[in-house]
Amino acid sequence: MTHKSICASLSRKIIINGGATNPSAAETILVYNPANMDKIGQIASCNAKDINDCVDAAELAQREWKKRKASERGSLVTACGQLLKSHAAELAAIMSYETGKALRTESMVELGVIADTFSYYGGLALELKGDTIPFDPNMLTYTIREPYGVIGAIVPWNVPLMLMAMKVAPALVAGNSVVLKASPEASFCILRAAELMNQILPKGLLNVVTGGAETGKLLVAHPKIRKITFTGSVESGRHVYKSAAEKLIPVTLELGGKSPMIICEDADLDKAVMSVYEGMRFTRQGQSCSAASRLFIHESIHDEFVAKLLAILDTKVIGDPMDDKTDIGTIISKAQYDKVQQFIKVAENDPSLTIHYGSKLPSDARLKDGLFLRPVLITGLKNSHEICQKEIFGPVAAIIKWSDFDQALKDANDVEFGLAAGIWTRDLPRALQAAQALEAGFVQVNQYIVFRPSLQFGGFKNSGIGCEGSLKAMIEGYTKEKTVIVNMG
Ligand code: NAD
Repeated sequence: MTHKSICASLSRKIIINGGATNPSAAETILVYNPANMDKIGQIASCNAKDINDCVDAAELAQREWKKRKASERGSLVTACGQLLKSHAAELAAIMSYETGKALRTESMVELGVIADTFSYYGGLALELKGDTIPFDPNMLTYTIREPYGVIGAIVPWNVPLMLMAMKVAPALVAGNSVVLKASPEASFCILRAAELMNQILPKGLLNVVTGGAETGKLLVAHPKIRKITFTGSVESGRHVYKSAAEKLIPVTLELGGKSPMIICEDADLDKAVMSVYEGMRFTRQGQSCSAASRLFIHESIHDEFVAKLLAILDTKVIGDPMDDKTDIGTIISKAQYDKVQQFIKVAENDPSLTIHYGSKLPSDARLKDGLFLRPVLITGLKNSHEICQKEIFGPVAAIIKWSDFDQALKDANDVEFGLAAGIWTRDLPRALQAAQALEAGFVQVNQYIVFRPSLQFGGFKNSGIGCEGSLKAMIEGYTKEKTVIVNMG
């Protein structure tokens, strides 16, 4: 089947009780291909009954699942990853078709980490251990890690399958079942992945609903959802947190960012420039939570840095996301496109700023309505400017010139977010000082883009609560701990 026929077959479907079926909701949301704005299908805007049906199926499945040997759960989850890997090309094509992410530089790369994530968590199944507490020789006291039950998982569109894997794999290995809400802009790849995984998993263990914020709110508020794991914007995360507080259930929130990268005068300039190109996620039109979107460049290398970065951008092809020659795809939606343009207009209207455009827009007439933007570097900024303070989530890098390292560090931290940060320097004490001082959950020195499921990833400040990645994320995020005392006297 082609990516188009799969999207057609999954139009208006949800995954419940082992397979794709029609939901009860009649309302739908149209889905467009952002490369040309052609309609590619519809997704259901799931209602309270759909959520309820999914939660009931998940609850039933979880009762048996939690009784299985941990190693058996781990094996099935690992097998899911292998199955998705064998469908990598198909899933990546669906993802590029609906999100406009470049197939070669983005979607295939994302598919490359998914099997690893499932295998990693599958292999950790036997590590779901509690503690023993030696408080009295006559009382054997220990703790047991137990699953929550039904987990509500909500994901955005920018790395949909990777984020699905980061939530679903540890949740299932820990003995939970899942009701996952896909983003309206990236539902088909999630529906297809879940359809495949349901060939392996027991029925009802992994269910998927589609729809927008209203569907998400219903999922969070459902009384049988005992834990929420959410990835999205700070604004939505706040709503989720409030709603979860009403029910007194735990949440993991992975939210937005405006990550600083400090480039010192002694940095390996060519490597640093390339790391900014990759770290700013220009290949994804900057639509990355951890994008290095605030660049603090030492004044002595500032102009050369900007010139070198523009030279790299000029070699990159913006074009049809499905084409192998394309490096940079589209923006996700018209709303997001307009939002990014507004920030560029702000810069255009500010005489103290200079806008540098890289690469060029596609000339192919078939893409004339596509949501393509050229990468933009804005120089002359102060950190207090709104372009440096707000998450633009587009191909706009804010560049701040510095001369005083302590001030640069201070400015790097002067923002509401704290997701990721980076520094380029050959001076080890300075690198270590920065790694300690930077207020972010993920700090990298002399590199920027590294992802492994074993690495803990979670935001400081408004960038989130809790973490994903690592054994700790599985144990703390997907189990509760019970204390047992056995009186042997
Ligand atoms: P969004 O907050 O608009 O939506 C995210 C998901 O939440 C979608 O599925 C949406 O339908 C749902 N949703 C929205 N409001 C909700 C509510 N009140 N209750 C329940 N569900 C709700 O974000 P987006 O535009 O899809 O994604 C971009 C954002 O995600 C950016 O801010 C980005 O930084 C962030 N993000 C963070 C990480 C991370 O790991 N920290 C990773 C990827 C993306």
